[in-house]
Amino acid sequence: MISDKVLVVFSGGQDSTTCLYWAKKHFREVFALTFIYGQKHVREVEVAANIAQAAGVHFDTMDISFVSHLGRNSLTDTSLPMDEAIPEGGMFPNTFVPGRNLFFMSVAAVYARERGIFHLITGVSQTDYSGYPDCRDSFMKSLNVTLDLAMGEQFSIHTPLMWRDKADTWALADELGVLDIVRNETLTCYNGIPGDGCGTCPACKLRRRGLEEYLARKH
Ligand code: ZN
Repeated sequence: MISDKVLVVFSGGQDSTTCLYWAKKHFREVFALTFIYGQKHVREVEVAANIAQAAGVHFDTMDISFVSHLGRNSLTDTSLPMDEAIPEGGMFPNTFVPGRNLFFMSVAAVYARERGIFHLITGVSQTDYSGYPDCRDSFMKSLNVTLDLAMGEQFSIHTPLMWRDKADTWALADELGVLDIVRNETLTCYNGIPGDGCGTCPACKLRRRGLEEYLARKH
């Protein structure tokens, strides 16, 4: 699939960086869009800008901070300790930002349309989705239809990681020849530490488990 232009919803983390390089392989011109939504670590944006520059893709940011004022979650509210799993009696861990992917993809689609871009990439995965409903394949397919109807266009939302767990995502990075870049330059850690991170937050644990599993499989 060699197509024209594509927009990657890009956070500078492991998943979206792998998607960025997947995009470079499959599309002629790549745009990376990073959202500022009140996340605790503005450092994320710097990390994203650096990765995009090194990858030689267009980079832009969009401030949608209103998303964090709509609901309470531990990614944007420092007074809340982070859940590691779905709490008893609850539906989602408190790292869930309600509506995040809905807003991300909707803003991305309008941004893309203005530039004649109709391919969108997001690094969501149903396999490792931690119970987030907006990471599910059914949601992305439904949203694709909604965006088409909303704007009278034909968008294609690509989700290269949808059926990959973290180990498979490391495998894809390796396949694309960017395992070291993804390992050393990206920021996935909830405590804002790049590369291998703090090692103790839920994101670091998931990431490390995946890497160890992939490296064990490789040897
Ligand atoms: Zn961490």
